[in-house]
Amino acid sequence: MKAFVKFGSEPYEAELRELPMPEPGDGEVLLKVSAAGICGSDLHAYRASPEYRWVRPPVILGHEFSGTVVGLGPGADRFRSGDRVVVIGIQGCGQCRVCRDGRTHLCEGRRVIGLDMNGGMAEWAVVNQNHLIAIPDGLDLATAALIEPFSVAVHGLSKVDILPEQTVVVSGPGPIGLLAAAIARLRGARVAVIGTGTDSDVRLPAAGKMGMATVNLDRESLDSALRTIFGGRPVDLWVEASGSSGAFKAAVGLIRRGGSMVVIGMYAHEFAWIPTPSVRAEHSLFFSYASADRDYRFALDVMAGGILDLEPLVSHFPLDRAGEAFRAAEVGAVVKAVLLPDKETVRQQ
Ligand SMILES: [Zn+2]
Ligand SMILES: [Zn+2]
Repeated sequence: MKAFVKFGSEPYEAELRELPMPEPGDGEVLLKVSAAGICGSDLHAYRASPEYRWVRPPVILGHEFSGTVVGLGPGADRFRSGDRVVVIGIQGCGQCRVCRDGRTHLCEGRRVIGLDMNGGMAEWAVVNQNHLIAIPDGLDLATAALIEPFSVAVHGLSKVDILPEQTVVVSGPGPIGLLAAAIARLRGARVAVIGTGTDSDVRLPAAGKMGMATVNLDRESLDSALRTIFGGRPVDLWVEASGSSGAFKAAVGLIRRGGSMVVIGMYAHEFAWIPTPSVRAEHSLFFSYASADRDYRFALDVMAGGILDLEPLVSHFPLDRAGEAFRAAEVGAVVKAVLLPDKETVRQQ
């Protein structure tokens, strides 16, 4: 079969290769992969970023994928051939206290499919049945591959209540930021998405196509842009999805007294921040990492409802063009690149 493999530990040592088909072991399921998204963490592995040195090649990349069950290993009895499923990316041990609490993404023994073990950027993949969720009727397999970033946005927003007419700022118009913005809007909030010059070609226009108000910080002042967008009302909630210390500090300076911030971004550098104004304003700060099973299930139901237009986010590539898709994702030429290993899924697009 064809698979996109990180074969070496040096930057860009990844390519499409011909590999033997995997066979499902105990409790495992063989999937015919329909669609596999390229995530920021895949790019880190591809580029061999220092914080991703733990990834041990050779490994087939891909943790955001959907497919159809085509084979069952011994003892795999929770699914049947023909079932359509998505894969849970971060897989907990299932036994420890946090796993039993349903917070599998925080498990000390967690493993990420497509980084710790072979993933979904391939024609076929083998996954333990405990880390699969059935796709509801009415949701197509290509869209379902967006489940992981969508569940991360769902998990972040599950920390706060979002009420109609609330003012919400999202900094960082990557897939997770835009999906968080879409959920906030669905709940009736007034949403502004902010980005910088590097977002102006693709990401901010995608936010615009999704119906969001946008601010380009390289061109306009944040204060006055937000005043115009929100009609002078202060910011109730800020979702920081950029990993920029500037955005973090802007947020604590602009959210109203009693307002909240959800931090999803990852920060490469330490930075100084004086908490006293936030103490005096009783800001609620929440940190949110990845997602767990229940976020996937909730996100799947929302997606199956068909009320969100995710089209502006996605660029599809056949698996043969995986290298091109990675380069496009790396330079920000696409918001979300999704590989389609199954020719049938390609035809349906
Ligand atoms: Zn991801
Ligand atoms: Zn565990």
